[in-house]
Amino acid sequence: MTKLESQPAFQAGEDFAITMDERDPLKGYRERFLFPKNANGDCVYLCGHSLGLQPKTAAAYIEQELTDWAQLGVEGHFRAKNPWMPYHRLLTEQTAELVGAKPLEVVVMNSLTVNLHLMMVSFYRPTAKRYKIVVERGAFPSDQYAVQSQISFHGFDPATSLIELTPAPGDFCLRDEDIEAFIERTGDDVALILLGGVNYATGQAFDMARITRSGRTRGCMVGFDLAHAAGNLQLKLHEWGPDFAVWCSYKYLNGGPGCAAACFVHERHARAWDLPRFAGWWGHDEESRFEMGPNFRAMSGADGWQLSNPSIVSLAVLRASMDIFHEAGMERLRTKSVSLTGYLEFLLSQKASPSFSIITPHENERRGAQISIRVDHNGRRVCEGLAKEGILGDWREPDTFRVAPVPLYNSYQDVFRFVRRFTAAIR
Ligand SMILES: *Cc1c(COP(=O)(O)O)cnc(C)c1O
Repeated sequence: MTKLESQPAFQAGEDFAITMDERDPLKGYRERFLFPKNANGDCVYLCGHSLGLQPKTAAAYIEQELTDWAQLGVEGHFRAKNPWMPYHRLLTEQTAELVGAKPLEVVVMNSLTVNLHLMMVSFYRPTAKRYKIVVERGAFPSDQYAVQSQISFHGFDPATSLIELTPAPGDFCLRDEDIEAFIERTGDDVALILLGGVNYATGQAFDMARITRSGRTRGCMVGFDLAHAAGNLQLKLHEWGPDFAVWCSYKYLNGGPGCAAACFVHERHARAWDLPRFAGWWGHDEESRFEMGPNFRAMSGADGWQLSNPSIVSLAVLRASMDIFHEAGMERLRTKSVSLTGYLEFLLSQKASPSFSIITPHENERRGAQISIRVDHNGRRVCEGLAKEGILGDWREPDTFRVAPVPLYNSYQDVFRFVRRFTAAIR
C-alpha cells in the first residue's frame, strides 16, 4: 500500500476521473468483461460484491468442455483437453495464490454454505466446557442459519451457545481491539470464532491476523467466511493461520451465478486423519479411488474434504476469471481498489447531506471495495430509480445502499457518474 502515497489528491471535477482512467495501469481489463446494457449503453455496474461480471472468455472455456463431452463422452474424464478427473486442480495454484495459501490448503468444491457446514463438522466440536460459537451481529443469514443448526445438531441451545459481537452504542462497525478483548476475556468456553472477512452489510474488513492470533491463544478454533473478501482484499491465510476459511466464487471472483465455491484448511490439519469429517468418494485417496473399496481414506490437505465430482462447466467459467486475476495480480488490484474506493468516499463527502451517511469504516485497512451508504428515507426508491437509468447498486433493507467499484472492471468515471446521479436523486 506504499504506492498509494504517490496517488494525486482527489479532485471533484469529471476531468480528474478521465485523467485517472487514462493513467490506470489496469484499465485494459475492463474490456475483458461483459457489461449489462440499457438504452444509454453500458450500465454503471457497482454490484461486483453481489454478482461479478462475465469474462468475455467464459464462453470459450465452456465451449471447450461441451466439445470434448460431445466428442469423447465418458472418455473425457481422462482424454479431454483438460481431463475432467483432475480438472479442479487446474484451479488450485491460482486459488492458493489469490488467498495467500499453499496449494495443499485449498480446494474448489460445492457451494459456500455447504462448505461452511463441512468445515464446522470438522472444526466445531463442542464439549460441555467449550461449546460457544462467536459470530458478528448481522452476519449473512445463511451463516446464521448454518451456525444455529450446527449448535442444535450437537444438542446445544443457540440461545446460550451463539454469541453475537455487537458494535459499541452509536457505532455500525466492530472495533478489532474490542473483538480481541472479548476473546481474551471470555474465550475459555468458545469452541469456534467465525467471522466474515468483510461484513456483507457494512463492508467492514476485520483484522484477521489479530483475531486469529487471539482466538488461537485462547484455544478456540478460528474460521472465516471470505465471501466478500476473496478477490477483494489481499489475504495471507497460511500466515495468519485460521483453521479454515470458505468463500463463494460468484461475487468478486466472477465465476457466474451459483459457481463452485472454495475452501481453505490450514496445513496443520492436512493429515489430521482423526478429525471427524463427512466423506465422499472425491475426497478419497486418488491412487485407489477407482478401486471403489469400502473404506474411506482421505486425501491429505483440503482435497480430503471433497465429496462429489464437480460441475466442470462451472469450474470452466471460474478458470476464465482466475486466469485474469492471475494476470492482473491481487497486489495491483488492491492498490487500485484502495484508490477507487477512496475516490468514491471523497466524492460522496463533497456532496455531504443529512439524507445519507457512509457506515463503512474510513481506514483503508478496515474495508475493501464496498461502501455502504445509509439512506435516511426513500432509499429503495432512489436505488430502483437509478437502476432504471442503468446505474446498478444493491439495496439492503431497511436502509442500506451497497456499492462496490471493482478494480478489475470499474473506472473512475463509473464512480463519478454514480455519485452525480445518486446525490441528485437523493435530493
Ligand atoms: C453471498 C454469501 C453467502 C451465500 O451463500 P451460498 O451458499 O453461496 O448461497 C453466504 N454467506 C455470506 C457471508 C455471503 O456473503
